[in-house]
Amino acid sequence: MFITFKEMKTETKCIKAGYKPNNGEPMALPIYQSTTYSYDTAEAIGKLFDLAEDGHMYSRISNPTVACVEEKIAALEGGVGALCTSSGQMASMMSLLNIMEAGDHFISSSKIYGGTVNLFMVTLKRLGIECTLVDQDLSEEELDKYFKPNTKAVFGESLANPALSVLDIEKFARVAHKHGVPLIVDNTFPTPALCRPIEFGADIVVHSTSKYLDGHAIQVGGVIIDSGNFDWKANGYTCLSTPDESYHGVTYTEKFGKSAYIAKARLQLTRDFGTYPPAFSAFLLDLGIQTLSVRMKAHSENALKVAEFLEKSPKVEKVFYPSLESDSYNGLAKKYFDGGSSGVVSFILKGGRSSAMEFMKSLKMATNAVHVAAVNTMVLHPASATHRQLTDEQLVGAGVAPGLIRFSVGIEHIDDILEDVKYALSKCE
Ligand SMILES: *Cc1c(COP(=O)(O)O)cnc(C)c1O
Repeated sequence: MFITFKEMKTETKCIKAGYKPNNGEPMALPIYQSTTYSYDTAEAIGKLFDLAEDGHMYSRISNPTVACVEEKIAALEGGVGALCTSSGQMASMMSLLNIMEAGDHFISSSKIYGGTVNLFMVTLKRLGIECTLVDQDLSEEELDKYFKPNTKAVFGESLANPALSVLDIEKFARVAHKHGVPLIVDNTFPTPALCRPIEFGADIVVHSTSKYLDGHAIQVGGVIIDSGNFDWKANGYTCLSTPDESYHGVTYTEKFGKSAYIAKARLQLTRDFGTYPPAFSAFLLDLGIQTLSVRMKAHSENALKVAEFLEKSPKVEKVFYPSLESDSYNGLAKKYFDGGSSGVVSFILKGGRSSAMEFMKSLKMATNAVHVAAVNTMVLHPASATHRQLTDEQLVGAGVAPGLIRFSVGIEHIDDILEDVKYALSKCE
Protein backbone atom coordinates (compact mmCIF):
# COMPACT_ATOMS: atom_id res chain seq x y z
CA MET A 1 0.00 0.00 0.00
CA PHE A 2 1.34 3.41 -0.96
CA ILE A 3 0.96 6.21 1.54
CA THR A 4 2.03 9.80 0.95
CA PHE A 5 4.07 11.73 3.50
CA LYS A 6 1.17 14.05 4.21
CA GLU A 7 -0.87 11.13 5.49
CA MET A 8 1.89 9.69 7.66
CA LYS A 9 1.89 10.18 11.40
CA THR A 10 4.28 12.64 13.02
CA GLU A 11 6.54 9.86 14.36
CA THR A 12 6.96 8.52 10.83
CA LYS A 13 7.53 11.92 9.23
CA CYS A 14 10.31 12.60 11.74
CA ILE A 15 12.20 9.70 10.16
CA LYS A 16 10.89 9.40 6.63
CA ALA A 17 9.99 12.86 5.32
CA GLY A 18 12.62 14.88 3.47
CA TYR A 19 15.56 12.82 2.22
CA LYS A 20 14.57 9.86 0.06
CA PRO A 21 17.57 7.85 -1.17
CA ASN A 22 17.37 6.19 -4.56
CA ASN A 23 18.52 2.62 -5.17
CA GLY A 24 22.01 2.14 -3.72
CA GLU A 25 22.38 5.64 -2.28
CA PRO A 26 23.40 6.33 1.34
CA MET A 27 20.61 5.76 3.85
CA ALA A 28 21.76 8.68 6.04
CA LEU A 29 21.26 12.23 4.78
CA PRO A 30 24.48 13.19 2.89
CA ILE A 31 26.23 16.43 3.82
CA TYR A 32 26.65 18.36 0.57
CA GLN A 33 29.56 20.53 1.62
CA SER A 34 29.73 22.68 -1.50
CA THR A 35 29.14 26.36 -2.19
CA THR A 36 28.13 25.71 -5.78
CA TYR A 37 26.80 23.15 -8.24
CA SER A 38 28.19 21.89 -11.49
CA TYR A 39 26.26 22.16 -14.78
CA ASP A 40 27.07 21.07 -18.34
CA THR A 41 26.14 24.26 -20.18
CA ALA A 42 25.58 27.99 -19.72
CA GLU A 43 22.03 27.42 -20.97
CA ALA A 44 21.35 25.02 -18.10
CA ILE A 45 22.41 27.70 -15.61
CA GLY A 46 20.37 30.30 -17.49
CA LYS A 47 17.25 28.17 -16.98
CA LEU A 48 17.88 28.16 -13.24
CA PHE A 49 18.13 31.95 -13.18
CA ASP A 50 14.91 32.18 -15.19
CA LEU A 51 13.30 29.86 -12.63
CA ALA A 52 12.36 27.70 -15.62
CA GLU A 53 13.91 24.66 -13.96
CA ASP A 54 14.46 23.57 -10.36
CA GLY A 55 18.01 23.20 -9.14
CA HIS A 56 20.64 24.56 -6.80
CA MET A 57 22.90 27.45 -7.84
CA TYR A 58 24.70 28.73 -4.81
CA SER A 59 24.55 27.74 -1.13
CA ARG A 60 23.58 31.23 0.01
CA ILE A 61 20.14 30.48 -1.51
CA SER A 62 19.70 26.71 -1.32
CA ASN A 63 21.64 23.51 -0.67
CA PRO A 64 20.49 19.89 -1.10
CA THR A 65 21.19 18.89 2.54
CA VAL A 66 19.34 21.90 3.92
CA ALA A 67 16.52 21.39 1.39
CA CYS A 68 15.85 17.88 2.74
CA VAL A 69 15.44 19.22 6.27
CA GLU A 70 13.19 22.00 4.98
CA GLU A 71 10.98 19.42 3.31
CA LYS A 72 10.85 17.36 6.52
CA ILE A 73 9.87 20.34 8.67
CA ALA A 74 7.26 21.50 6.13
CA ALA A 75 5.73 18.00 6.23
CA LEU A 76 5.73 17.98 10.05
CA GLU A 77 3.94 21.35 10.27
CA GLY A 78 1.61 20.59 7.35
CA GLY A 79 2.92 23.44 5.17
CA VAL A 80 3.67 23.79 1.46
CA GLY A 81 7.29 24.76 2.02
CA ALA A 82 9.92 25.81 4.53
CA LEU A 83 13.06 27.94 4.60
CA CYS A 84 15.91 27.46 7.08
CA THR A 85 17.63 30.50 8.59
CA SER A 86 20.75 31.12 10.63
CA SER A 87 18.78 31.57 13.89
CA GLY A 88 15.32 31.74 15.38
CA GLN A 89 15.70 35.50 15.56
CA MET A 90 16.25 35.65 11.81
CA ALA A 91 13.22 33.42 11.18
CA SER A 92 10.99 35.84 13.14
CA MET A 93 12.49 38.89 11.49
CA MET A 94 12.30 37.51 7.96
CA SER A 95 8.73 36.24 8.45
CA LEU A 96 7.74 39.90 8.91
CA LEU A 97 10.15 41.66 6.53
CA ASN A 98 8.90 39.37 3.74
CA ILE A 99 5.55 41.21 3.77
CA MET A 100 6.34 44.57 5.37
CA GLU A 101 8.28 47.76 4.78
CA ALA A 102 8.90 51.09 6.51
CA GLY A 103 5.56 52.66 7.41
CA ASP A 104 3.83 49.34 8.13
CA HIS A 105 2.49 48.12 11.45
CA PHE A 106 1.89 44.73 13.08
CA ILE A 107 0.37 43.40 16.27
CA SER A 108 2.10 40.92 18.58
CA SER A 109 1.13 39.21 21.78
CA SER A 110 3.19 40.66 24.63
CA LYS A 111 3.86 37.13 25.92
CA ILE A 112 6.82 36.38 23.68
CA TYR A 113 10.52 35.62 23.97
CA GLY A 114 12.57 38.54 25.35
CA GLY A 115 14.87 38.59 22.31
CA THR A 116 11.82 38.89 20.08
CA VAL A 117 10.58 41.87 22.12
CA ASN A 118 13.91 43.64 21.47
CA LEU A 119 13.72 42.81 17.77
CA PHE A 120 10.15 44.08 17.47
CA MET A 121 10.28 47.15 19.70
CA VAL A 122 13.82 48.42 19.04
CA THR A 123 15.38 47.10 15.84
CA LEU A 124 12.30 46.86 13.60
CA LYS A 125 11.19 50.24 14.94
CA ARG A 126 14.48 51.70 13.69
CA LEU A 127 13.67 50.25 10.28
CA GLY A 128 10.35 52.13 10.36
CA ILE A 129 8.13 49.15 11.21
CA GLU A 130 5.90 49.67 14.22
CA CYS A 131 4.71 46.94 16.59
CA THR A 132 1.90 47.08 19.14
CA LEU A 133 2.16 44.54 21.96
CA VAL A 134 -1.22 43.28 23.17
CA ASP A 135 -2.50 41.08 25.99
CA GLN A 136 -3.18 37.78 24.20
CA ASP A 137 -6.00 36.92 26.58
CA LEU A 138 -8.16 39.88 25.44
CA SER A 139 -11.47 39.16 23.70
CA GLU A 140 -11.79 39.33 19.92
CA GLU A 141 -13.66 42.64 20.17
CA GLU A 142 -10.89 44.14 22.30
CA LEU A 143 -8.19 42.87 19.93
CA ASP A 144 -10.07 44.42 16.98
CA LYS A 145 -9.34 47.89 18.34
CA TYR A 146 -5.58 47.55 17.83
CA PHE A 147 -5.82 47.15 14.05
CA LYS A 148 -4.93 50.12 11.85
CA PRO A 149 -5.16 50.60 8.08
CA ASN A 150 -1.41 49.82 7.80
CA THR A 151 -1.50 46.66 9.97
CA LYS A 152 0.09 43.83 7.99
CA ALA A 153 0.43 40.87 10.37
CA VAL A 154 -0.37 39.37 13.77
CA PHE A 155 2.29 37.47 15.73
CA GLY A 156 2.18 35.20 18.80
CA GLU A 157 3.91 32.23 20.48
CA SER A 158 1.94 28.98 20.77
CA LEU A 159 3.59 28.36 24.16
CA ALA A 160 5.38 31.46 25.37
CA ASN A 161 9.02 31.47 26.49
CA PRO A 162 9.33 32.09 29.45
CA ALA A 163 5.73 32.98 30.48
CA LEU A 164 4.39 29.49 29.52
CA SER A 165 1.05 31.00 28.50
CA VAL A 166 -0.83 29.24 25.72
CA LEU A 167 -1.99 31.24 22.69
CA ASP A 168 -5.62 30.82 21.63
CA ILE A 169 -4.54 30.22 18.02
CA GLU A 170 -8.07 30.01 16.59
CA LYS A 171 -9.07 33.30 18.20
CA PHE A 172 -5.94 35.05 16.91
CA ALA A 173 -6.43 33.56 13.42
CA ARG A 174 -10.07 34.73 13.31
CA VAL A 175 -9.16 38.29 14.32
CA ALA A 176 -6.22 38.45 11.87
CA HIS A 177 -8.27 37.08 8.96
CA LYS A 178 -11.18 39.42 9.68
CA HIS A 179 -8.72 42.26 9.03
CA GLY A 180 -7.17 40.58 5.97
CA VAL A 181 -3.76 39.90 7.52
CA PRO A 182 -1.86 36.64 8.20
CA LEU A 183 -1.24 35.07 11.59
CA ILE A 184 2.41 34.16 12.26
CA VAL A 185 2.97 31.71 15.13
CA ASP A 186 6.30 30.97 16.83
CA ASN A 187 5.91 27.26 17.62
CA THR A 188 9.38 26.76 19.15
CA PHE A 189 8.38 25.28 22.52
CA PRO A 190 5.69 22.74 21.59
CA THR A 191 7.27 21.80 18.21
CA PRO A 192 5.07 20.07 15.62
CA ALA A 193 5.26 16.92 17.75
CA LEU A 194 2.84 18.53 20.23
CA CYS A 195 1.16 21.35 18.30
CA ARG A 196 0.52 22.14 14.63
CA PRO A 197 -0.66 25.77 14.46
CA ILE A 198 -1.58 25.55 10.74
CA GLU A 199 -4.36 23.08 11.65
CA PHE A 200 -5.89 25.85 13.79
CA GLY A 201 -5.63 28.64 11.22
CA ALA A 202 -2.05 29.98 11.47
CA ASP A 203 -0.72 31.09 8.06
CA ILE A 204 3.01 31.15 8.78
CA VAL A 205 4.92 29.21 11.46
CA VAL A 206 8.41 30.06 12.71
CA HIS A 207 10.82 28.23 14.99
CA SER A 208 14.05 28.61 16.78
CA THR A 209 15.45 25.19 15.82
CA SER A 210 18.12 25.82 18.49
CA LYS A 211 15.61 24.44 21.00
CA TYR A 212 13.68 21.15 20.85
CA LEU A 213 13.86 20.58 17.08
CA ASP A 214 17.62 20.16 17.42
CA GLY A 215 17.12 19.06 21.00
CA HIS A 216 20.77 18.62 22.01
CA ALA A 217 21.88 22.25 22.40
CA ILE A 218 24.51 21.94 19.67
CA GLN A 219 23.62 24.53 17.01
CA VAL A 220 21.70 27.77 16.56
CA GLY A 221 19.16 27.90 13.75
CA GLY A 222 15.67 28.82 12.67
CA VAL A 223 12.99 27.95 10.14
CA ILE A 224 9.93 29.54 8.51
CA ILE A 225 7.04 27.37 7.30
CA ASP A 226 4.39 28.57 4.84
CA SER A 227 0.90 27.04 5.15
CA GLY A 228 0.10 28.11 1.59
CA ASN A 229 -3.36 29.11 2.81
CA PHE A 230 -3.21 32.91 2.86
CA ASP A 231 -4.48 34.75 -0.22
CA TRP A 232 -1.83 37.45 -0.65
CA LYS A 233 -3.23 38.85 -3.86
CA ALA A 234 -6.82 39.20 -2.65
CA ASN A 235 -5.59 40.89 0.54
CA GLY A 236 -3.48 43.48 -1.26
CA TYR A 237 0.07 42.28 -0.54
CA THR A 238 1.50 43.85 -3.69
CA CYS A 239 5.05 42.82 -2.70
CA LEU A 240 3.94 39.29 -3.63
CA SER A 241 1.40 40.00 -6.36
CA THR A 242 3.26 42.53 -8.54
CA PRO A 243 6.58 42.10 -10.42
CA ASP A 244 9.78 42.04 -8.33
CA GLU A 245 12.27 44.20 -10.23
CA SER A 246 15.13 42.75 -8.22
CA TYR A 247 14.32 39.33 -9.67
CA HIS A 248 13.81 40.28 -13.34
CA GLY A 249 10.15 40.99 -12.90
CA VAL A 250 8.90 37.73 -11.37
CA THR A 251 5.44 37.95 -9.76
CA TYR A 252 5.60 35.49 -6.89
CA THR A 253 1.86 34.74 -6.65
CA GLU A 254 1.71 33.96 -10.39
CA LYS A 255 4.93 31.98 -10.64
CA PHE A 256 4.70 30.03 -7.36
CA GLY A 257 0.97 29.95 -6.52
CA LYS A 258 0.47 28.67 -2.98
CA SER A 259 4.22 28.76 -2.31
CA ALA A 260 4.59 32.46 -3.20
CA TYR A 261 5.49 33.60 0.32
CA ILE A 262 8.22 31.06 0.97
CA ALA A 263 9.64 31.46 -2.57
CA LYS A 264 9.96 35.23 -2.08
CA ALA A 265 11.60 34.78 1.32
CA ARG A 266 14.25 32.59 -0.29
CA LEU A 267 14.78 34.25 -3.67
CA GLN A 268 14.76 37.80 -2.37
CA LEU A 269 15.53 37.98 1.37
CA THR A 270 17.84 34.99 1.83
CA ARG A 271 19.68 36.08 -1.32
CA ASP A 272 20.12 39.62 0.00
CA PHE A 273 20.70 39.00 3.71
CA GLY A 274 22.86 35.89 3.40
CA THR A 275 21.22 34.05 6.28
CA TYR A 276 21.19 30.47 5.00
CA PRO A 277 22.57 27.81 7.37
CA PRO A 278 25.49 25.50 6.54
CA ALA A 279 24.87 21.95 5.32
CA PHE A 280 26.50 20.46 8.42
CA SER A 281 24.05 22.30 10.69
CA ALA A 282 21.16 20.98 8.61
CA PHE A 283 22.54 17.44 8.93
CA LEU A 284 22.65 17.79 12.73
CA LEU A 285 19.15 19.30 12.76
CA ASP A 286 17.82 16.39 10.71
CA LEU A 287 19.43 13.94 13.11
CA GLY A 288 17.80 15.72 16.04
CA ILE A 289 14.37 15.74 14.43
CA GLN A 290 14.49 11.96 13.87
CA THR A 291 13.89 11.50 17.61
CA LEU A 292 11.65 14.56 18.11
CA SER A 293 8.43 12.66 18.87
CA VAL A 294 9.95 10.35 21.44
CA ARG A 295 11.88 13.19 23.05
CA MET A 296 8.83 15.48 23.31
CA LYS A 297 6.81 12.69 24.94
CA ALA A 298 9.59 12.01 27.43
CA HIS A 299 10.15 15.73 28.16
CA SER A 300 6.41 16.27 28.71
CA GLU A 301 6.00 13.23 30.97
CA ASN A 302 8.99 14.19 33.10
CA ALA A 303 7.97 17.85 33.28
CA LEU A 304 4.43 17.03 34.41
CA LYS A 305 5.84 14.89 37.23
CA VAL A 306 8.23 17.68 38.25
CA ALA A 307 5.39 20.24 38.13
CA GLU A 308 3.12 18.02 40.25
CA PHE A 309 5.89 17.44 42.74
CA LEU A 310 6.69 21.16 43.02
CA GLU A 311 3.01 22.02 43.44
CA LYS A 312 2.87 19.86 46.60
CA SER A 313 6.00 21.35 48.16
CA PRO A 314 5.42 23.78 51.05
CA LYS A 315 8.46 25.78 49.86
CA VAL A 316 6.90 26.59 46.51
CA GLU A 317 4.50 29.50 46.09
CA LYS A 318 3.33 28.87 42.53
CA VAL A 319 4.01 26.54 39.61
CA PHE A 320 3.45 27.38 35.93
CA TYR A 321 2.93 24.42 33.60
CA PRO A 322 -0.03 24.27 31.22
CA SER A 323 -0.63 20.53 31.64
CA LEU A 324 -1.31 21.00 35.37
CA GLU A 325 -5.05 20.93 36.06
CA SER A 326 -4.58 24.02 38.25
CA ASP A 327 -2.86 26.06 35.52
CA SER A 328 -4.93 28.90 34.07
CA TYR A 329 -3.98 27.77 30.53
CA ASN A 330 -4.92 24.11 31.09
CA GLY A 331 -8.05 24.38 28.90
CA LEU A 332 -6.13 25.87 25.97
CA ALA A 333 -3.30 23.35 26.43
CA LYS A 334 -5.82 20.49 26.17
CA LYS A 335 -7.24 22.01 23.02
CA TYR A 336 -4.01 22.84 21.18
CA PHE A 337 -1.36 20.45 22.53
CA ASP A 338 -1.41 16.82 21.60
CA GLY A 339 0.26 14.79 24.34
CA GLY A 340 1.91 17.29 26.69
CA SER A 341 3.24 20.79 27.21
CA SER A 342 6.99 20.26 26.56
CA GLY A 343 9.69 20.15 29.21
CA VAL A 344 9.76 23.70 30.52
CA VAL A 345 8.29 24.35 33.97
CA SER A 346 8.63 27.55 35.95
CA PHE A 347 7.97 28.13 39.62
CA ILE A 348 8.26 30.73 42.34
CA LEU A 349 9.96 29.87 45.62
CA LYS A 350 8.38 31.29 48.79
CA GLY A 351 11.77 32.35 50.09
CA GLY A 352 12.29 34.77 47.18
CA ARG A 353 15.66 35.61 45.66
CA SER A 354 17.85 34.10 48.38
CA SER A 355 15.98 30.80 48.23
CA ALA A 356 16.25 30.76 44.45
CA MET A 357 20.02 31.27 44.67
CA GLU A 358 20.27 28.50 47.25
CA PHE A 359 18.16 26.16 45.12
CA MET A 360 20.34 26.75 42.05
CA LYS A 361 23.53 26.21 44.03
CA SER A 362 22.30 22.98 45.59
CA LEU A 363 21.32 21.17 42.40
CA LYS A 364 23.72 18.30 41.75
CA MET A 365 22.59 17.17 38.31
CA ALA A 366 20.75 20.02 36.58
CA THR A 367 23.04 22.39 34.70
CA ASN A 368 23.02 26.14 35.24
CA ALA A 369 22.70 27.42 31.68
CA VAL A 370 21.24 30.20 29.55
CA HIS A 371 19.33 27.77 27.37
CA VAL A 372 16.23 25.61 27.46
CA ALA A 373 14.68 22.78 25.55
CA ALA A 374 17.36 20.12 25.22
CA VAL A 375 17.91 16.58 26.50
CA ASN A 376 19.84 17.84 29.56
CA THR A 377 17.94 19.24 32.54
CA MET A 378 18.84 22.93 32.74
CA VAL A 379 17.94 25.64 35.18
CA LEU A 380 17.98 29.43 35.04
CA HIS A 381 17.23 32.15 37.58
CA PRO A 382 15.91 34.99 35.37
CA ALA A 383 16.31 37.63 38.10
CA SER A 384 20.06 37.10 38.21
CA ALA A 385 20.57 36.34 34.49
CA THR A 386 18.30 37.51 31.66
CA HIS A 387 16.61 40.16 33.86
CA ARG A 388 19.66 41.00 35.94
CA GLN A 389 19.53 44.78 35.40
CA LEU A 390 16.10 45.12 37.01
CA THR A 391 15.45 45.92 40.68
CA ASP A 392 13.19 43.56 42.66
CA GLU A 393 10.35 46.04 42.19
CA GLN A 394 10.86 46.27 38.42
CA LEU A 395 11.07 42.48 38.25
CA VAL A 396 7.57 42.17 39.69
CA GLY A 397 6.37 44.65 37.03
CA ALA A 398 7.97 42.54 34.31
CA GLY A 399 6.23 39.42 35.63
CA VAL A 400 9.51 37.91 36.78
CA ALA A 401 9.29 37.33 40.52
CA PRO A 402 12.67 37.46 42.33
CA GLY A 403 12.09 33.85 43.40
CA LEU A 404 11.13 32.61 39.92
CA ILE A 405 13.05 29.67 38.49
CA ARG A 406 12.85 28.41 34.92
CA PHE A 407 13.40 24.69 34.96
CA SER A 408 13.91 22.94 31.62
CA VAL A 409 13.24 19.29 32.37
CA GLY A 410 15.43 16.91 30.39
CA ILE A 411 14.97 13.26 29.53
CA GLU A 412 17.18 11.77 32.23
CA HIS A 413 15.34 9.28 34.52
CA ILE A 414 12.56 11.03 36.42
CA ASP A 415 13.71 9.54 39.75
CA ASP A 416 17.10 11.25 39.39
CA ILE A 417 15.56 14.57 38.38
CA LEU A 418 13.13 14.50 41.33
CA GLU A 419 15.91 13.49 43.71
CA ASP A 420 17.91 16.53 42.56
CA VAL A 421 14.92 18.87 42.98
CA LYS A 422 14.03 17.37 46.37
CA TYR A 423 17.55 17.85 47.73
CA ALA A 424 17.84 21.43 46.40
CA LEU A 425 14.45 22.32 47.89
CA SER A 426 15.56 20.95 51.25
CA LYS A 427 18.29 23.63 51.25
CA CYS A 428 15.76 26.46 50.76
CA GLU A 429 14.09 28.44 53.53
C1 LIG B 1 15.17 30.99 21.62
C2 LIG B 1 13.93 31.49 21.03
C3 LIG B 1 13.96 32.37 19.93
C4 LIG B 1 15.25 32.88 19.33
O1 LIG B 1 15.90 31.84 18.71
P1 LIG B 1 17.50 31.79 18.45
O2 LIG B 1 17.66 30.52 17.71
O3 LIG B 1 18.15 31.83 19.77
O4 LIG B 1 17.81 32.99 17.62
C5 LIG B 1 12.75 32.77 19.39
N1 LIG B 1 11.58 32.36 19.91
C6 LIG B 1 11.52 31.52 20.97
C7 LIG B 1 10.21 31.10 21.50
C8 LIG B 1 12.69 31.07 21.56
O5 LIG B 1 12.63 30.25 22.62
